[in-house]
Amino acid sequence: MPQTETFEFQAETTRLLNLVINSLYTTKDIFLRELISNASDALDRLRFEALSNPDLVPEDHPYEIRIEPNPSNRTLTIHDTGIGMSREEIIRNLGTIAQSGTRELLQQAAEGKNRELLSSLIGQFGVGFYSVFMVADKVSVISKRAGEEKATFWESVGEGRFDVSTASRESCGTSISLHLKAVDEDAGIHDYTESRVLEGIVKRYSDFITFPVLCPVERTEYEKDEDGKIKEGAEPKKVVEIQTLNAMKPIWTRSESDVSDGEYAEFYQHIAHDWAPPMKRIAVKAEGRLEYRALLFIPSRPQLDFGMGEPHWGLQLYAKSVMIMEECQDLLPPWLRFIRGVVDSVDLPLNVSREMLQQDRHILQIRRFLTSKIVRTLDRMRKDEFEEYLKFWKSFGRILKEGVATDRDAVEDLRSLLLFKSSADEEKLVSLDEYVARMKVKQDAIYYLTGESRAVIENSPHLEAFRERGYEVLFLDDPVDEVMVQVLREHEGKALKSVARGDLDFDAGEDEAGEKKKEEKERFSGLFETLQKALDQWVREIRISARLKDSPACLVAGEYDISPQLEKILRANGQEVPASKRILEVNPEHEILEKMLRRFEENPEDGKIAETAELLYGYALLAEGGELPDPARFTRLLAERMKEGL
Ligand code: ADP
Repeated sequence: MPQTETFEFQAETTRLLNLVINSLYTTKDIFLRELISNASDALDRLRFEALSNPDLVPEDHPYEIRIEPNPSNRTLTIHDTGIGMSREEIIRNLGTIAQSGTRELLQQAAEGKNRELLSSLIGQFGVGFYSVFMVADKVSVISKRAGEEKATFWESVGEGRFDVSTASRESCGTSISLHLKAVDEDAGIHDYTESRVLEGIVKRYSDFITFPVLCPVERTEYEKDEDGKIKEGAEPKKVVEIQTLNAMKPIWTRSESDVSDGEYAEFYQHIAHDWAPPMKRIAVKAEGRLEYRALLFIPSRPQLDFGMGEPHWGLQLYAKSVMIMEECQDLLPPWLRFIRGVVDSVDLPLNVSREMLQQDRHILQIRRFLTSKIVRTLDRMRKDEFEEYLKFWKSFGRILKEGVATDRDAVEDLRSLLLFKSSADEEKLVSLDEYVARMKVKQDAIYYLTGESRAVIENSPHLEAFRERGYEVLFLDDPVDEVMVQVLREHEGKALKSVARGDLDFDAGEDEAGEKKKEEKERFSGLFETLQKALDQWVREIRISARLKDSPACLVAGEYDISPQLEKILRANGQEVPASKRILEVNPEHEILEKMLRRFEENPEDGKIAETAELLYGYALLAEGGELPDPARFTRLLAERMKEGL
């Protein structure tokens, strides 16, 4: 194996990174924040691994970050005693950034100057390390993974290539040396060999880091007498002493009034890898039998998902301010997986295992409390800051709906948070409470219709009678809605009913209307028998509809059948679903039906009747956005009819 191997950065990546870095970073100082943030993560990881593998590091292993400026050769080195990287890890972590899907997006975002998208991509895929090239023209890294013998040396001048070779290093951890560019105050490049500059940056961006960030700081000293007074004529003496630049106090242990919004923002970015400020912050301080603190954030946008494996979720779990788990998923239900934050408990042992956590009474209690706290926060947002809440709903509403569909315990918590599209307004989303409050006098159910999109639902013939009566209908166009409404069942004692399901009877109990219906049923019974024969493989019943006003026919499901939408979802998930036959409802007042009846009365054997039945069935399928069983046959029949009609 050659001593030094040269690798190429992914070609696109280099160019894009330049774009990204130039269009995003307004202040170059933040390269230091990125390096300290990485170092802190590496220290957390080492401490965590050492909990279960105490031989990994000596007992007195120092957990620290050390900044070493060198003004004479203009370098700055950041040392950490964290987990370190193996040769493979270095090549992977510091050589490839954007995965193929992301790369294209990055390019689009950069070209379109879409800062929003850019920053979210960067937040998630971390080009943190690369920000060093804003201030350095050469970067070298020496890293040794805990538990390994050899260290690895990595070096790059940032122009598409990096070199990797074997090196030695005493203890585990990483050192990153920057060969600094010339100071250029106008371009925002300060003198990063000056301890004052470094101290300012650390205080501003990294104060909350829980490991000490050490740095030599120069001080002028004068010789003093016994009383501690400066001796007369004493010469000034420069002394350098190592100082801890950061406060090191975990941000969640400080009282909210002592922490600035800026500090919270930095902390959020550190744990969430998200550049957009969060939408809400929730600080929890529990005392008494169970003592813990939590600092939670509701992000302002969802994590992007490129289908590259399971997205990460969970809260960071600390025991007495020591991180014991990076992504603890037992602290929140899956439908709150978008929440970021930390929980710090004094009652947990440091060497707790995943299995133990799942059964831990404390954890269960914390989970219950945090869940209800978040739900209350969201509910308050909905009431007091509806615009904000709408933004939240657009990003995360789907996950909450999934919560209703999958977690029975959550239904009561979540129902007031749900918003729906509705026939009452083109734009505005409505809550179930609003719906119930404006129900019509005779209306006894909350009506909804599921479908592929608002446009398809809106044009569905099922809505005609509801429209005429002025009944509001909720439009459910998300696949998860279907399952959700089945779990919800009712609200305020009003059943949720699909307008495309079951026998509808608006006029129940009204004698006159009842009488008319009976007559019609008799009039059509012979025709319906013929239609049933023609459509037997697809429909299980033909009946007169109370839903239709203008359209000739529609398809409805039985009260307890699964809907075609749900059928489709289940099939898409690889489940076997027996094809369910639905009911064809027809409008007896429609001209087509009148004419069919007349023809039937003239000659019950007329072949045109069966064909028209097929066309009618196809019509009903298309009207609800469904697919025809035999499109070729349908179009042929239709063409023939058109010919005759002309
Ligand atoms: P991010 O931190 O957002 O993932 P970076 O480009 O900053 O992106 O870092 C890429 C990866 O390199 C990190 O996820 C981490 O695995 C590794 N890494 C960076 N710095 C260190 C370090 N000081 N110690 C150990 N691993 C590191």
